[in-house]
Amino acid sequence: MTIQAPETVADGQLFIHGTFVPSASGETREVVNPATEGVICRVAWGSVADLDQAVTAARGAFEDGDWPALTLKQRGRVLLRIADAIEEHAEELARLESLDVGKPISFTRGFDVPSAADLFRYYGGMVEQLEGAARPAGGRSLAYTRREPLGVVGAITPFNFPFNLAVNKIAPALAAGNTFVLKPAEQTPLSALRLAGIMHEAGLPAGVFNVVTGDGATVGARLATHPDVRKLAFTGSTATGKRLAATAADTLKRVTLELGGKGANIVFADADLDAATQWAFQAAFFNTGQFCMSGSRLLVQRPVYDEMVKRMAAQAAAVPVGDPLDPETVLGPLAHRAQLARVVEYVAIARAEGAVLRAGGSAGIEGDADARGYYFQPTVFSDVTPRMRIANEEVFGPVLTITPFDTEDEAVAIANGSPFGLAAGLHTTDLRRAHQIAARLEAGIVWVNSWAMFENTTSFGGYKDSGYGRELGPEGIDEYLQAKTVVVNTE
Ligand code: NAD
Repeated sequence: MTIQAPETVADGQLFIHGTFVPSASGETREVVNPATEGVICRVAWGSVADLDQAVTAARGAFEDGDWPALTLKQRGRVLLRIADAIEEHAEELARLESLDVGKPISFTRGFDVPSAADLFRYYGGMVEQLEGAARPAGGRSLAYTRREPLGVVGAITPFNFPFNLAVNKIAPALAAGNTFVLKPAEQTPLSALRLAGIMHEAGLPAGVFNVVTGDGATVGARLATHPDVRKLAFTGSTATGKRLAATAADTLKRVTLELGGKGANIVFADADLDAATQWAFQAAFFNTGQFCMSGSRLLVQRPVYDEMVKRMAAQAAAVPVGDPLDPETVLGPLAHRAQLARVVEYVAIARAEGAVLRAGGSAGIEGDADARGYYFQPTVFSDVTPRMRIANEEVFGPVLTITPFDTEDEAVAIANGSPFGLAAGLHTTDLRRAHQIAARLEAGIVWVNSWAMFENTTSFGGYKDSGYGRELGPEGIDEYLQAKTVVVNTE
């Protein structure tokens, strides 16, 4: 196993046409470790000129590079080799992601990296199954469909799951035969750059995958408007997503938007409360709450409301918060300074609105006055009413709100009262109620007696302001294919 030192991963370079190259301007920026506030390394800061070069490389690779010349079997094999290569570098990638994002190493080892390898394997295995169909046609004609790639895919990713959210797009897009330009989040670009090197070593031809780090407003915006980019896959905030959909309209590129969330997690009085407490905790605090699909709104039926408030507050106070590289850590810091400031602001808003603080509420690590880093204590508010801002706006941090309800209809109305619709959950021992409520919830994924159980075979995506398009599963590859109909006159 080779492990590349984090400070040499990027080496101040972009990845274009199969090689690491400096940005046209020579500009670089610091990447900060959120657990220590120290500098990990510098990365190149790309510009529109660099982005254009990357798109040219990707277009060349799509039109006449080695990629379109591969048979389906060969293309699939490249993806399988990438899966193996990720596993060979698993420890290195897990540490890099933990350093860059502040994620606990037990999660990057146990989830982020292995699930990314599995996804390359899942879509790699699908390459030879991308079938068209013979279609009934009138007269003496023969009609059939082909499923073809779109061309150059541009992707823009957020800071919170940089490795997984990139791979969720790269693996199906490459499996479908497209080529790719990625602009990772400013704050957490390292795993994308390392992945570029790993994929190249695994045999991905030059130009098929390119990474340009830089600002959203310049490099990202150019990707959204570039006429040679046929599809934009975006994950990020709802505000940015709406802006990008509007600007992408000029070039009529396809767009998928994985946006924000404010998941409602409903606990009925008949639920197994021990299990519901564990799932509700994970729903709210996984990845320090920087999780688009977090269950940050806990709705609890009144007979068990006081008990659940007590349990959630006790769990929040007891969870190990600290160094992401310590295998015992469950909650790391927030990923960057501005995110910490946002959480501080929302906690102040919640207090001013009259929500009752039951746990946490302050920056730092409880009992460690000297701790550096962007830490915020896991925080629980009870007595939250559905109209409060804290119950409607996405905090994207370790802050749980708890709201009581009486009836099924009331729970569904509160859950669906949000402009978002990404994930929802419910806890009950009544099978009839589970299916009925799941059908009524406006969300792209609903977890029953669980939360955040992901499989590469099952898709997720948004309703309403949480966006459109799906990632993972068979739906995930459909987003990177277009149908062509061929009609042959056999007369
Ligand atoms: P963000 O919208 O600020 O940034 C996301 C990406 O967009 C970054 O790479 C950024 O550089 C780029 N960007 C910003 N402005 C741009 C512009 N004008 N043109 C082009 N690109 C631009 O979001 P963030 O703060 O990085 O991430 C947090 C958000 O992402 C939350 O709302 C969260 O819910 C959402 N998210 C959604 C999912 C999902 O699957 N639905 C997953 C993770 C995160």
